[in-house]
Amino acid sequence: MFEYAPAPESRDVVDLKSSYGLFINGEFADGSGPTFKTVNPATEETLAEVATATSDDVDRAVQAARKAFGVWSALPGAERAKYLFRIARLVQERARELAVLESLDNGKPIRESRDVDVPLVAAHFFYYAGWADKLAYAGFGTKPLGVAGQVIPWNFPLLMLAWKIAPALACGNTVVLKPAETTPLTALLFADICRQADLPPGVVNIVTGAGETGAAVVAHPDVNKVAFTGSTEVGRVIARSVAGTSKKLTLELGGKAANIVFDDAAIDQAVEGIVNGIFFNQGHVCCAGSRLLVQESIQEELLAALKRRLGTLRLGDPLDKNTDIGAVNSAEQLAKIRRLSDLGESEGAERWSPACELPGKGFWFPPTLFTGVAQSHSIAREEIFGPVLSVLTFRTPAEAVEKANNTPYGLSAGVWTEKGSRILWMADKLRAGVVWANTFNKFDPTSPFGGYKESGYGREGGLAGLEAYLDV
Ligand code: NDP
Repeated sequence: MFEYAPAPESRDVVDLKSSYGLFINGEFADGSGPTFKTVNPATEETLAEVATATSDDVDRAVQAARKAFGVWSALPGAERAKYLFRIARLVQERARELAVLESLDNGKPIRESRDVDVPLVAAHFFYYAGWADKLAYAGFGTKPLGVAGQVIPWNFPLLMLAWKIAPALACGNTVVLKPAETTPLTALLFADICRQADLPPGVVNIVTGAGETGAAVVAHPDVNKVAFTGSTEVGRVIARSVAGTSKKLTLELGGKAANIVFDDAAIDQAVEGIVNGIFFNQGHVCCAGSRLLVQESIQEELLAALKRRLGTLRLGDPLDKNTDIGAVNSAEQLAKIRRLSDLGESEGAERWSPACELPGKGFWFPPTLFTGVAQSHSIAREEIFGPVLSVLTFRTPAEAVEKANNTPYGLSAGVWTEKGSRILWMADKLRAGVVWANTFNKFDPTSPFGGYKESGYGREGGLAGLEAYLDV
């Protein structure tokens, strides 16, 4: 193993305030609820006090969005595009600040926030800016829905914000967005970017708080469209709350993706893809390749190579540019990962982690691999949402398909093989919204993303992503 010299990214680029308010009608305002603390999960240090929006605050935000809808939806698409392009450029200009703040508040490695999250955020705004004046050619009409209520999770705070806000605004809607309780800071920095871009007041409103604030956004009678990303459990609650109303709904929920490696795959490449599939973002990824299906004949060789590779992963300070695995986002999430991993062991699977020193403070979990996993095991069925890989084997392509589809979810899958025909055959049979071939966790704003079954409904991204925000 190499000795790495520490390479910490400086925090100075972020002007962290001691407290943050809500962003309503283009102004920062106090919330009516009690404030809450957001912490750095790598150190447990309090980063800031954040306002809680009550249902009255949410009502003010929705009213502001409703008023702004008149102005925003009346603008020619080319004018709306100018604002979106401006936001995209400001995201690029302030990329370092956004990346550092995201890593501080979320715990993800700076390498990921800097090289994946923030560039994709800018790309998303650029992409949908391009659609704003071409909606007539997209095939879903040009009539926006009105006010969109959007609730997002903590795993990709800024990227999920971009997935929600960019298409909504491009289509002429206005938004009230609630970030996750544990990661509100980059959404509030984004609010500052909206001000800098001179976005008309009320077009984007950010209401912070816990689940109750989210529920108030979803239930507000003057919201026309609800977009949610998060757990299947909360997705169900939201679907119930919206049922019987005229609100349009899209849900991006959990997953338990199969990453399938055939005996003719390039092993070293597959190992990189497996690592990227489950250890990227500490495994806090809805489309993570959390079930490795490996063809029995190469199991030994592949697992040996994978274990060697896991031994080189560096876990630690998220702001260090050498870090591969950062902190788990919260104590609650860490408890869940521990509980499910312990269950894996007690149900009979074999647990392995490389030698890995965990920092004394903060929320950490080592990269973990389970072999001897049966389809009935909890770790093969439930979304762990952590750096934990369950390894299963198969003998024939048909068995791989059976096992891959044997899940209540259907968000993504990966196939590793040299044969193009086999890739197409598998892609045809896998019940998953996204199927990656010889790669994993590749995202692009032009490509639609979404699930089957309990992974939700509706698509985000690409041309398909416009449909959710237009009165088709
Ligand atoms: P949640 O689904 O609870 O959170 C997602 C968002 O919804 C958050 O902003 C949350 O607020 C908000 N919310 C919570 N309750 C309600 C409600 N009744 N009405 C409206 N909005 C609500 O996910 P958790 O953060 O609790 O994570 C739990 C598990 O969910 C994880 O362990 C993981 O397995 C899974 N998960 C899956 C994700 C995915 O993309 N597939 C993303 C995140 C989690 P608040 O943050 O304040 O709770």
